[in-house]
Amino acid sequence: MKRFTKGLVALITAATIGTCGYSTCSGPDLEMKEGYSDLDKSMKQEVSIPFVEKFDVRDNRMKPVSADELHQELSGFMSLRNNKDREKYGILLFLQAGFKESDISRQRVNSDYNNIIVEKKGKSDKTIVIGAHIDRVSQGKGIIDNASGSTLVTNLAQAIRGEDTKYTYRFVLFTLEESGLIGSRNYVKRMTKDDKDRFAYMINADCVGVEHTVIYANISNDGLESTLAKIGEQRGFVFRKENLSPWYGVDSLSFRRAGLPSGSLATTNYEDKIHKPSDTIDKIDKKELAKTYQLMLDLLFVTERSKL
Ligand SMILES: [Zn+2]
Repeated sequence: MKRFTKGLVALITAATIGTCGYSTCSGPDLEMKEGYSDLDKSMKQEVSIPFVEKFDVRDNRMKPVSADELHQELSGFMSLRNNKDREKYGILLFLQAGFKESDISRQRVNSDYNNIIVEKKGKSDKTIVIGAHIDRVSQGKGIIDNASGSTLVTNLAQAIRGEDTKYTYRFVLFTLEESGLIGSRNYVKRMTKDDKDRFAYMINADCVGVEHTVIYANISNDGLESTLAKIGEQRGFVFRKENLSPWYGVDSLSFRRAGLPSGSLATTNYEDKIHKPSDTIDKIDKKELAKTYQLMLDLLFVTERSKL
């Protein structure tokens, strides 16, 4: 979750002191600030995603990672000192998920930081991107924001790794989200026309596992929203629709800005807990974390049954 500075006074203050506390962060992202208030008005209309209408997630045979294992891997973020350590830990989580070092690519974003990408090839090169930002602000341990989403991404990769899939899946841990969605913007900027032609959708997890699963309805693709709502109903999970404030940013917006179908998940009841020393593991409810994980895994199950 990126909070943008609000108003002129805040901007001047931020320009003076910087916003993120890291040497790579050059202060507030003015370009993003300008681009952000036009959220609903000028962003290109997204294409609809033709998800299959009839499905039963009880048929999903993909083996989920347990709530205990998710929680244990998430706890590992508590001892990490900085974003460099987090990047290394993200790679370790992919290795623990059963991928080889050669499966993991580092997309260089600047001299210090990389997006970490693992691709799971399917029969078709039609591609689904599952993402979360792994960087954090300097206050707190960045467990909710966003070690939580990162842990889901690597464990979704683990669950689908050995499956015979119709589609190709790219699992991406984005860097420098907190400095202005820099990693995800970089990723989208480097996509070729072919990459865009074979792109199906992007789903993002940013701040999950405190309570019920949320989709940001105002910035998420309608097909993603309705399909996830249906999955939630079938699972008997609470699934809420909320609107993302125009002063907040998430990585799926980098895709949406390019006209690419995308959506972002979060949790209820997190906003007063992040970007503070109190963003620690005790705020996570492992059962809720596992529910959001299952919803995303079921989304992949529905995707495999759809003609995208
Ligand atoms: Zn944040």
